[in-house]
Amino acid sequence: MVKNSHFSDWSCWCGSTTATHAYRVPITGTSQIDQQALNVYCCDTCGVFFLNPQPSPPMLADAYNQEYYGTDKKKFIGPIASLVGQFQQGRAKLVSQYLAPPQSILDIGCGNGGFLQQMLQRGYSVTGTELSPDSADRVDTELRPHVYIGDLLNIDWQDRRYDAISLWHVFEHLSQPFRTLEKIYDLLKPGGYAFFSMPNHESTQAQNFGPHWFHLDPPRHLFGFGPNSFTKLLKQTNFTVKKTSTWSFEQNPYGQIQSQLNINNPQRDRAYRSIKGDPSLARHTRFADYAKVALLTPYALIKSAIESYHNRGATFTLVAQKNHPENHSE
Ligand SMILES: [Zn+2]
Repeated sequence: MVKNSHFSDWSCWCGSTTATHAYRVPITGTSQIDQQALNVYCCDTCGVFFLNPQPSPPMLADAYNQEYYGTDKKKFIGPIASLVGQFQQGRAKLVSQYLAPPQSILDIGCGNGGFLQQMLQRGYSVTGTELSPDSADRVDTELRPHVYIGDLLNIDWQDRRYDAISLWHVFEHLSQPFRTLEKIYDLLKPGGYAFFSMPNHESTQAQNFGPHWFHLDPPRHLFGFGPNSFTKLLKQTNFTVKKTSTWSFEQNPYGQIQSQLNINNPQRDRAYRSIKGDPSLARHTRFADYAKVALLTPYALIKSAIESYHNRGATFTLVAQKNHPENHSE
């Protein structure tokens, strides 16, 4: 299945024009994307993963239907939603190590605004972006005036500049990640910090599960990075990496569980849909999924902890600092 391919219309941000076919990902789900498969390639030079061809706009629109965001303000059912609140606090604590109130933070793809709410309570000046008015509907009324709607690249920022910019599990969704990173650089004040978290394509999970890996999230994840490939990109864009971690209690153990379940179930990521309370699934199916997840949890916790200890965890969080424009080493 592995082969080198030249793409007549493709060249990587790093200049390479050759990539290796990594795997074919069957996708199931809503009508438009049934019976299709996506091909994942990896750039031979920098190691970035990408879908080729990229999913069509109708396919993406279908994948980001109401169900993806959840019908309520929260994306998950009760107990999981309160856990997600805890994780937002963890992100706020991380950012607080690098800047002090009332410094400013811009959160790209702010979702329901849970993280910004935490930052606001801590006294920071907050701004968010969300792609569509529908998804921005879930933002608390108090935060709405702080949220721009649209693509980061198309918003009229005028001379606004920020002390920090965060993208929590957003970068892999972007159709123009390389241009976006340059825009993030422009929007940061000198010495400003950028915070990223995303799936780790250099992880043990990615390697072990291949096309079944939960964090591929087809067709929504358009590009894939690992600490090594992303660091190359950041250096090229004139950032210095300050910290990298591959531990996430929020993402890694569940990635292990769902990937294991995907191997034997053609309904990809079904247990995840059960946890989100997907009403289209039968009640007994949902309960069976909860039971399977519960059974697999202890092993997944231990395995994920060991992988992260060896810097091979399934997702990574990275803090980067904007260098002065004159200090570009390239
Ligand atoms: Zn490349």
